[in-house]
Amino acid sequence: MKEDCIFCKIIKGDIPSFTIYEDKLFKVILDRFPAAPGHALIIPKEHYKDIFELPEEVAQALYPLAKEMATRIKLAVDAEGMNIVQNNGEVAGQSVYHFHLHLVPRKAGDGITL
Ligand code: ADP
Repeated sequence: MKEDCIFCKIIKGDIPSFTIYEDKLFKVILDRFPAAPGHALIIPKEHYKDIFELPEEVAQALYPLAKEMATRIKLAVDAEGMNIVQNNGEVAGQSVYHFHLHLVPRKAGDGITL
C-alpha cells in the first residue's frame, strides 16, 4: 500500500470503484473515464509502479486473467474486438503510477484512438 496512490486506495476500499472481478492477486474494475462502454482495468492488489517492478508470479497470472476478462467483457457489451493496452512511464502515457492493464472493447466506427 502506497499512501498517495489512487489505485491502492481503491484496492483498500477507501475510494469507491465498480469491481467486476477479484482474486488473491488482482482487482478488475471499470475505468472511471471509459474510452468505451466496458473499459476495464486489471490492477494488482500490491503496489507495483510499472511492468519493470512486476514480480514473476504476478506477471504469469496476468495474461490468463486478461484473456478470461476480455472474453467475458466482449460478450457482455457485444463488442467486435478488444484493445489490451498497458502504459509504462510518463513518456509512454502512464498517468496512474500503479501497474494496470487496460481492456478496451471495440466496435466498428467507434472512433477510438489509443
Ligand atoms: P491514461 O490516463 O493515459 O490512460 P494510464 O494508462 O495510467 O494513463 O491509465 C490510468 C487510467 O485510470 C485512466 O484510464 C483513467 O481513466 C483511470 N482512472 C483514474 N482514476 C480512476 C478511478 N478513480 N477509478 C477508475 N479508473 C480511474
